[in-house]
Amino acid sequence: MVDPISTPLEDARTRLREATDLLGCDPGMYAILSNASRELTVSIPLRRDDDSIEVLTGYRVQHSVARGPAKGGLRYSPHVNLDEVRALAMWMTWKCALLDVPYGGAKGGVTIDPRQYSQRELERVTRRYTSAIMPIIGPETDIPAPDVGTNEQTMAWMMDTYSMNKGYSIPAIVTGKPISIGGSLGRATSTSEGVVHIALAALRDNGFDPTKCTAAVQGFGKVGRGAAQFAFDAGMKVIAVSDEYGAVFNANGLDIEKLGAHVDSTGKVVGFNGADALDGAALLELDVDLLIPAAIEGVIHEQNAPKVKAKIIVEGANGPTTPAADRILESKGIIVVPDILANAGGVIVSYFEWVQGNQAYWWQESEVESRLEERMLGAWAKVHDFAKERKLSLRGAATVLAVQRVVEAHVIRGLYP
Ligand code: GLU
Repeated sequence: MVDPISTPLEDARTRLREATDLLGCDPGMYAILSNASRELTVSIPLRRDDDSIEVLTGYRVQHSVARGPAKGGLRYSPHVNLDEVRALAMWMTWKCALLDVPYGGAKGGVTIDPRQYSQRELERVTRRYTSAIMPIIGPETDIPAPDVGTNEQTMAWMMDTYSMNKGYSIPAIVTGKPISIGGSLGRATSTSEGVVHIALAALRDNGFDPTKCTAAVQGFGKVGRGAAQFAFDAGMKVIAVSDEYGAVFNANGLDIEKLGAHVDSTGKVVGFNGADALDGAALLELDVDLLIPAAIEGVIHEQNAPKVKAKIIVEGANGPTTPAADRILESKGIIVVPDILANAGGVIVSYFEWVQGNQAYWWQESEVESRLEERMLGAWAKVHDFAKERKLSLRGAATVLAVQRVVEAHVIRGLYP
């Protein structure tokens, strides 16, 4: 019988436990941090285009507000459930703390397959969900952003619903919104750009010349597509790319720009000229220098980790590697750069967007990009050095550094009342 794969919430708590044990924290601190500070479940009645009524479920979880307002994306996926949202919210807390962005962590989700709904239906879902969670969100309390299955249009509807209810425009209520209503230049590509900054640093610091490296990217959405493009632009040979329908492979390297054009016209990577079809799961087991999982949680687990041959894994997705897989990869000498560091580019530029919105003063794209690079590389150096000094994995080091910052905030603020 196949062992059950751990859930994202179990994974998040396992990593928190390891960090609080290493830091010698009081068990009460683990108890505080393993639970969310506020959770809201809402019912979303939707009038479908055929006039029938369907009731969906939505969540908003604020894991921590110890270091600032809660911050995190909104996910539309049929797999969304409260425990998944709790895990994703906790990871946002660590990500913001590690990158020293003055936020706590949050996440939202609606259990829906957005591809089965029209744009008008998605607009109604988004507006109803936004008004249902309005009591707990705000530019000073909790700021949503896009995640899997949502995009800048979703953010525009959220911003409009919130603003119409308040009676004036409040751009800083969401980040990742269109430029025309206060979005930041560079936000759309920021997560992918950050992933590749970290990948290049990790390759170089481990003695690889990126222009002689091969890469495989799982996922061709908001993160994977840009990561494949930036890796290609940096001179890497991207030999395989997948999406939820399958994968394509070319040992001589894929032309990512042409693949992007193919996806724009067909909606899938499969069928791309100049590449062979590959099983999506097989992509994770290719013999490449760099593997970027950029889709969803738990894709590298106890069962397939023994077959992974990549030299370095840089996590574009949140939680793609389970703790059991981590142990196997570590014993094989595979370097894993954790999500809370590798994919933090998105929330860094979200922070820049929020700052710009609050000040009503917009920055040049070059300014956004240079500040993003500076923060990503600064955090890389810090995590890398701390891992060496304390003989920890990169994930262990990143989690300890992040948890330590949040614990410090709790201790100095004291326990209310
Ligand atoms: N959903 C993204 C993440 O998981 C972005 C969150 C944000 O910008 O608030 O990091």
